[in-house]
Amino acid sequence: MFWHEFCFFITMLKAVFINSLLFLNIGFSAMAQDSLKTVIAEKGDGILSLLRKNDVSPYDYYDDFIKLNIINLRDSVHLYEGRVYQIPKVVVNRIQLVDSIQSQSKKTKDIKSEAFAIFGNKHKNVVEKSKRLKGNIYYLVSGHGGPDPGAMAVYAKKAIAEDEYAYDITLRLAKELLGHGATVYIIIRDENDGIRDDRILEIDRDELAYPKETIPLNQLARLKQRVTIINDLYNTHKGAYQRLIVTHVDSRSKGQNIDVFFYHHEKSTNGKKLAESIHNTFQKKYKKYQPNRTYAGTFGHRTELYLVRKTYPAMAYIEIGNIKNKKDQRRILDPDNRQALAKWIGEGVLLDFEEE
Ligand SMILES: [Zn+2]
Repeated sequence: MFWHEFCFFITMLKAVFINSLLFLNIGFSAMAQDSLKTVIAEKGDGILSLLRKNDVSPYDYYDDFIKLNIINLRDSVHLYEGRVYQIPKVVVNRIQLVDSIQSQSKKTKDIKSEAFAIFGNKHKNVVEKSKRLKGNIYYLVSGHGGPDPGAMAVYAKKAIAEDEYAYDITLRLAKELLGHGATVYIIIRDENDGIRDDRILEIDRDELAYPKETIPLNQLARLKQRVTIINDLYNTHKGAYQRLIVTHVDSRSKGQNIDVFFYHHEKSTNGKKLAESIHNTFQKKYKKYQPNRTYAGTFGHRTELYLVRKTYPAMAYIEIGNIKNKKDQRRILDPDNRQALAKWIGEGVLLDFEEE
């Protein structure tokens, strides 16, 4: 009698236990589905500002946001006013990951921790995405800098200069490459600019050449300085996979539709491959995100350019539109677009390295 009661009690207990497990399961999955916050884009919102408003780091979660909301994005980077967007969930582990990468990088050469500081306080954390570029060395040169602002234009009654925009895109590219484990030398550097999320990037003249050399005003002296720095570094890394990417925001070409232009050294097959990979990535992106827009970028060699001719590493010379061109300005001034451009170049770099 007592035994029977006991068995019954256990059975009941089991039932309650299993039920509660089931209940918990249902509870959890319902929670996971409901947990993504949604917001409506307001006039003037961009991806970065929308994420920031919702306390999500725009750079750590930019890709996640794109993945979640791709069908509601124009050109893969623009929000539509009035549409509903999902906000990615912040994973605590990522913050821990950032910390561990930072402490690791401090133990290795100071080049890496220097590169982190140079992104500015807000953007200094590089989240490791992969080790796909580990062991590779990239030299990134943004056009002009120091006493030479490059091409200039006026936008909304404010002066804008090529070197500031080329530098911002270059920093964003550096961050992409670092995220995949590459060693990156940012040759032209401004210790107090960092990655900037503004449309108007204030003009300054305090850029230096790696590590801390004053940039001369004379054009030939300025180019010679860059060539010497890159070639000296190249010699210290002999045997490693090394590539150079030079970025300008002006154009020597006279075409109406100025997009992204690529040049490489005539005799360098590796440079040709790098330029082709970036070029092909842009073509694909344009096809995917802007099917109605014709991609007007061209791909060719320009051996007349001093840097292309004199530097040792295989290189690609990129002209990301023209700051003087009204149509190009719209793209270059939008920080979301600068981010997208940097990302596309980064994808081209990965393609170049991984596709034989
Ligand atoms: Zn230029």
